[in-house]
Amino acid sequence: MSESKVYKNYINGEWVESSSGQTYENRNPANTDDLIGVFQKSNEKDVDAAISAAENAYDGWRLTPAPKRGELIFKAAQKLVEKKEMISRDMTREMGKVIKETRGDTQEAIDMGFYMAGEGRRMFGETTPSEMPNKFQMSVRQPMGVCAMITPWNFPIAIPSWKIFPALVCGNTVVIKPATYTPLSVLHFMEIFEECGFPPGVVNMVTGSGGAVGEPLMRDPRVKLVSFTGSSEVGSLVSQACAPEFRHCMLEMGGKNGQLVMDDADLDLALEGALWGAFGTTGQRCTATSRVICHKDIVKEFTERLVEQAKKIKMGDGLDESVDMGPAVSESQMNTVLEYMEIGKKEAKLLCGGERQTGGNYDKGYFTQPTIFGDVTEDMRIFQEEIFGSVTSITTCDSFEDGINKLNNVVYGLSASVYTRDVNKAFTAMRDVYTGIFYVNAPTIGAEISLPFGGTKATGNGHREAGKQALEVFSEWKAVYVDFSGALQRAQIDNN
Ligand code: NAD
Repeated sequence: MSESKVYKNYINGEWVESSSGQTYENRNPANTDDLIGVFQKSNEKDVDAAISAAENAYDGWRLTPAPKRGELIFKAAQKLVEKKEMISRDMTREMGKVIKETRGDTQEAIDMGFYMAGEGRRMFGETTPSEMPNKFQMSVRQPMGVCAMITPWNFPIAIPSWKIFPALVCGNTVVIKPATYTPLSVLHFMEIFEECGFPPGVVNMVTGSGGAVGEPLMRDPRVKLVSFTGSSEVGSLVSQACAPEFRHCMLEMGGKNGQLVMDDADLDLALEGALWGAFGTTGQRCTATSRVICHKDIVKEFTERLVEQAKKIKMGDGLDESVDMGPAVSESQMNTVLEYMEIGKKEAKLLCGGERQTGGNYDKGYFTQPTIFGDVTEDMRIFQEEIFGSVTSITTCDSFEDGINKLNNVVYGLSASVYTRDVNKAFTAMRDVYTGIFYVNAPTIGAEISLPFGGTKATGNGHREAGKQALEVFSEWKAVYVDFSGALQRAQIDNN
């Protein structure tokens, strides 16, 4: 079907094999006969080499003027534009989501590249008047050193770009460990950095498992910041690994996002939103709509229509432009989703789906049916736990206030949305729903790169990706005071 190419790690500007001498296969989750490539099964020695390279490259890169760093990032974004179709097609093969979505994933990396390239000429600090005569003061951003990035498989190039571009423009160097299932997308990204002439060691990639690569990477004291996106379980490990030395970590984790549909909502719009939010990316988005909370007066009609629409979703190989929904990313992810379907069947009322999709070509992949549960209540596991697959649930609310409470009643706080035509309700929800992202009359998915991305509660640790807020993660403030009075001036003392 396709040649089995061996792909290497990218360390210090060179393509190198792992010192383990071992590799692993990466296969297409829509068709496991399709071998995408063979990747390095790396270990702590490779991580050590990558961190050393990043450390050695740091001074040169930090002292490169930020506008020059921005120019290189601009070039990388242009290369992403040139290679968008190739990268997106390979991404569909390795991750499974449909081609229009992988094009969106690559586009997000392009957008982030152009945005952060511009930061090379901004990266604003402040000047403020001093309390003292003949004294000047300002704040400037300073880079931190080697930044480690550990990324998930659901946005194989967008999420790495949210981390790598702002880290680089701030003057840091990078070691990235891509998700085990999606190394090729990050490898293409590395090829771009090489082609654009980024100095050796500024960006490095080591492929392999979380245990063999992620662990030593997050534990190395030379790493000043770990930027992690993935599950809350692993995020907690990252946080603990960084805590003893007070090294920084930025954690973007799970979600259990809800869409509230009020009785005055435009139901057609709300239906379209729920369908896209729940089953886009096969439900494998951190912002996926895994809960729909419907006002009691419209729940019956909404449910019937949502189920009718979900049954029409066409599953298949995402490279076929007519397909709506691809497979789960892997066998283990599929099994997790199937387990939740069984849990849901016991707890609630199965309205459609609920099984693995089998027969014909489906048997070669990890397809799970679009699944909707009705009569779901707050105490149920399918209401509370992140499923990360093609499953959503419908819960009834008695009033707007009840709906808001139900939106909030989960441990996560990533995204939520409300559908209503009442401006007062829209603004109240905007204020009272405690999430990092909120939508009015739009689904829970669909963030843009110019605003902060991240969540509250168990979703994050207070940081945000994207927008100018990303700079807060990848730089530290330095307050600088210049006294040109020629005398000792004691703050808070000599001017009183
Ligand atoms: P995961 O936590 O299993 O893996 C994430 C990354 O961590 C992978 O690269 C993995 O190899 C690595 N890893 C695993 N164990 C490790 C360990 N012990 N030490 C160090 N690294 C380790 O998550 P996943 O299955 O890849 O992604 C799905 C999860 O990611 C979901 O929970 C989803 O909500 C979350 N996610 C969150 C966001 C966000 O921005 N909030 C975005 C996308 C995905």
